[in-house]
Amino acid sequence: MSKTCDITHPVQSFKFDAIALVESPYQEKFAIPRQPNLVSAAKGRVVLIGDANNSELVRDIEQFSHLWLLFIFHGTQAQGWKPLVRPPRLGGNVKTGVLATRSTFRPNPIGMSVVKLDKVTTIKKQTILHISGLDLLNGTPIVDIKPYVPYSDAIVDADAGFAQQQPEAGLSVVFSNKAQADLKQYNQHDSELALLIEQVLRQDPRPAYKQGKADDKVYGMSLYDLNIQWQLTALDSVLVLNITKSSN
Ligand code: SAH
Repeated sequence: MSKTCDITHPVQSFKFDAIALVESPYQEKFAIPRQPNLVSAAKGRVVLIGDANNSELVRDIEQFSHLWLLFIFHGTQAQGWKPLVRPPRLGGNVKTGVLATRSTFRPNPIGMSVVKLDKVTTIKKQTILHISGLDLLNGTPIVDIKPYVPYSDAIVDADAGFAQQQPEAGLSVVFSNKAQADLKQYNQHDSELALLIEQVLRQDPRPAYKQGKADDKVYGMSLYDLNIQWQLTALDSVLVLNITKSSN
């Protein structure tokens, strides 16, 4: 009888070192978009580390406009995983098999995101991939990087069940006079700061069960070293109240 798999000597356990760390404007999980490429104004850096910090590893990578980043959900890893999760796309109260979702609470906390590669730099022996459209927490450890290959990776007629369509990014975003003055002060961080805030808030970062419901709570989110306060003024409209330096 032919054997396809030698189950008496299975290789079931692996140890990997991170090859890079991500620098991202997103300092906390709250308000990170739920997938990459929803917020194109989010710019980040993939900083190669250790033996992988060698420009030879990324020679010719700039031929590719987009990359797959395979990473560890380090921010939620300690919370473990569950066989059933409640995806935000189903309103946050219907349970689905974890492997049928992109939830962070998976048996192995591995994430994958396609991001845009803007450029590669090597300065003073430090190689950095400059990326945009990321959905990653600051400090995310990267375990692999691969080019995105459209002829194979993009299946335009694929069925995606409850996640077929991009979520409706319905909210309109208005900056108060105070927030506009604050923006002028902090714009040196990123000339696209206003666009970043607008794109993040358009996605409605509130928990899924609050979506489409009236809400007078003042929310705070952190981008870079800034704290941004905002509030819903109507079901489909957000007012940015103010922008301040984070205290920590
Ligand atoms: N594109 C990835 C991630 C989808 S889940 C994938 O499909 O595997 C997206 C959520 O991951 C974001 O909303 C953010 O809250 C969370 N996230 C991003 N980086 C993380 C990290 N390092 N640790 C824990 N959660 C993270």
